[in-house]
Amino acid sequence: MQSRQKTWTAVLQCYACNRLFTLTGLTADKVGFIAWEPCPHCRAHPPTRHAGIRSEMHRSVDLREETGKPEGES
Ligand SMILES: [Zn+2]
Repeated sequence: MQSRQKTWTAVLQCYACNRLFTLTGLTADKVGFIAWEPCPHCRAHPPTRHAGIRSEMHRSVDLREETGKPEGES
């Protein structure tokens, strides 16, 4: 087995402007905090890390494990 660290790609929808943005190269310890990343479009980021204010967090649209294979490789 490969010993390289697993990483994920996440697609999020900004809670403020509703636009989609993608985060790549997420490690396991970062995946749990993607909802608090600042939006690259409007720079909005949730004001608090406290759970419960779901309307002020980005929505996770997609989350997939990165395979490390180049795009288009068959
Ligand atoms: Zn935004």
